[in-house]
Amino acid sequence: MRVPEFFHIAPACEKSMNGTCNNTEPGKGERVEDVVDGLCKGRLELGDSTDSTSEKGFSDNCSVTSSGSSTGVRYPMATANPGEEANESSQRHQSLVNAARVLLESIGEDVHREGLRKTPERFAKALEFLTSGYQQSIEEAVNGALFEEDVDTQEPVTVKDIDVFSLCEHHMLPFFGKCTISYIPHKKVIGLSKLGRIVDILSRRLQVQERLTKQIAETVERVTEAQGVAVEVEARHLCMACRGVQKNNAVTITRSMTGVFKTNTVWRQEFLNK
Ligand SMILES: [Zn+2]
Repeated sequence: MRVPEFFHIAPACEKSMNGTCNNTEPGKGERVEDVVDGLCKGRLELGDSTDSTSEKGFSDNCSVTSSGSSTGVRYPMATANPGEEANESSQRHQSLVNAARVLLESIGEDVHREGLRKTPERFAKALEFLTSGYQQSIEEAVNGALFEEDVDTQEPVTVKDIDVFSLCEHHMLPFFGKCTISYIPHKKVIGLSKLGRIVDILSRRLQVQERLTKQIAETVERVTEAQGVAVEVEARHLCMACRGVQKNNAVTITRSMTGVFKTNTVWRQEFLNK
C-alpha cells in the first residue's frame, strides 16, 4: 500500500502501516495487521493527496464545495424558516442532554447526585461547541477579509502555530496541537486571522487528522485562489494517549500541499524547513 505524501505519523505508527513496527508493543499473540485493520488501513485509502474534493470523507463532512456553496453538511447551515431552525436546534440540544444521562447511567452513575445534576446539560453544551463547525460557513467567516493586492511576489505567506482542537471521529476524544499554513498569493491576500477561523470551523467537527489537514489546504486554496497552499498539522491524540496503546508522547504529523507546492521543490523544501 502506498503511503500518501501528506501522510506521516511519528513516531509510532508509520512503520506499523507496513507491519514492521515494534513501537506499538503488541501484546502476546496480537498481530500488528489485526491491530491496524479497519483503522489505519481504511484511512490510508481515503487520503490520497492527488484526489480532489471528490474524496468521500471530504464531501461528506465539509461545508465547502468546489462551487463555493455551503451544501454537503450533515446539519444545514440555515433553513428557510428561522423559527424552524431554532426549534430544530433546541430538539437537538435536548437529545444530547438525554443521551448524556443515558451515558452516565450506563457507567453505573447516579445522575441525581449533587455533582452530576447539571452534567448532562454541561456535556451537551460542550459537545455543541466542539462540533459547532458543522453549522458555520467558511464563506461567511472570510467575508470582507479578502483583499485585492498586486502581490504576485512568488513569496509565501506563512502563519505558524495556529491552535487546533478537534475530536477524533473514531473515539470522540480530543486531538489537539498546532497548525502551520503557508500560501503563495495570486492577486489576493486574506486577513491573517481568517486562516485561524478556517482552522476552527473545519476542526470543530468529528475529524481524522489526515482529512482535516487536507480540508484546510483545499479550503485556503479555494478561498484565496492562491498559487499553492501547504499545511502541516502536528497533534496529540487522547485516544492514543489515555487508552489503547497508551503512547502519551506520540505526536502525529500530517501535511497537505496544493498547487505550486506540489510541483516546485524549492517551495516544498522551504516549507518543510520552516
Ligand atoms: Zn481516536
